[in-house]
Amino acid sequence: MLTAVVGINWGDEGKGRMVDLLSAEYDVICRYQGGNNAGHTVVNERGKFILNLLPSGILRDNVVNVMGNGMVIDLEHLCGEMEALRSKGIKITPETLKISDKSIICMPYHRQQDILEEERLAERKYGSTRRGIAPVYGDKYMKKGLRMGDLLAPETLADKVANIVEWKNITFSGYGQEKLSPEAMVAWLKQYGEPLLPFIADTTEFLLAAKREGKNILFEAQLGALRDIDFGIYPYTTSSQTLAAYAPIGAGIPGVKLDRVIGIMKAYSSCVGEGPFTAELFGEEAVALREAGAEYGAATGRPRRVGGFDIPASVYGVKLQGADALALTKLDVLSYLDKIPVCVAYEIDGVRCEHFPVGDKLLRAKPVYEYLEGFKTDISGCRRPEELPQAALRYIRYLEEAVGCPIEYVSVGPGREDYLKMR
Ligand code: GDP
Repeated sequence: MLTAVVGINWGDEGKGRMVDLLSAEYDVICRYQGGNNAGHTVVNERGKFILNLLPSGILRDNVVNVMGNGMVIDLEHLCGEMEALRSKGIKITPETLKISDKSIICMPYHRQQDILEEERLAERKYGSTRRGIAPVYGDKYMKKGLRMGDLLAPETLADKVANIVEWKNITFSGYGQEKLSPEAMVAWLKQYGEPLLPFIADTTEFLLAAKREGKNILFEAQLGALRDIDFGIYPYTTSSQTLAAYAPIGAGIPGVKLDRVIGIMKAYSSCVGEGPFTAELFGEEAVALREAGAEYGAATGRPRRVGGFDIPASVYGVKLQGADALALTKLDVLSYLDKIPVCVAYEIDGVRCEHFPVGDKLLRAKPVYEYLEGFKTDISGCRRPEELPQAALRYIRYLEEAVGCPIEYVSVGPGREDYLKMR
């Protein structure tokens, strides 16, 4: 069974906890895109973990974790993340973690370039996480990237670095910066690359063999459909493909087809960073929702923008992901509301619009809000659909119908067991 678990919205839907839950039935968990620019939060019996780069299966024994070629990896960050997990008793070995030799290294100068550009833009900034993600993907496509596999050939590494740094310095001088030193970059690669050498592998061969042996493979996305570089709210997207269709490519097995796509969809909306976010709520309403849902960025701690569930955006997300089933997360967060706000459509230039628009039209969209009856009860202890109040069930059925995809799981708390199976 090959399954992708992906975000339907802007990210932060709670993918990490769903992957942690579902991973019990899988032998291999793969990350296939992105870097340490977002974080999954997983809470289980071993504690609370924030994972930026490592696949969520790292918290389970007997699961092999793959970091695919579609990823960009900040070596220093990865070493720190591994150290933090080890200090909490999590074992990480070359048998349980495989890093693609084709994944790209996110260098210190990518981080620096990201910051320089955001500062140059000032008020016009993208709201980048400043982790170097856009510059490193840019360099990948300029064919000026360093790959994890390059660390395995130390005899040619210094030359590769010198050539790239010479080119990068043209950009840095444009920003009025001092020249980067190739020696310092090689030293950094050595310091943080060496501990990772045993984990570098050909993930294509590994995954093909796993598939042949009938192993269950789960692909874990970072961010959501609306952040996809091609289909999201460009340019306020991330710089990689967040869609399920890319999972086999970014993990290392482009020729295989997924059996199942599970979309993770939050019971309300949240968005971190700049860009159009039509369903956004403001003032007291926003503060209450942000507090109830603890909506602060896992990677950066930034307060997230929040809003009611957004039907046009979620219909678009479900369609792009090709979701077969959905997990609705954080339903418990809405318990405090007398009436639940739902953005049912957009109004663009005075015309009601049911579809999710892209481009400038989206910037002019205003939300059309309707309100559903709140459930006003603590539902965090519910484990079966029958235990949910009628109003909560109605809300679930309403969303299911609106987005045209069955909701199979509903989560009602951050813990591993805080969920209900609807079917
Ligand atoms: P991801 O990047 O999609 O994994 O999402 P995040 O880790 O940013 O967001 C999920 C956050 O919500 C984490 O702090 C989780 O512990 C928490 N969370 C996940 N599911 C639930 C839920 O059903 N209820 C509540 N109250 N919190 C949840």
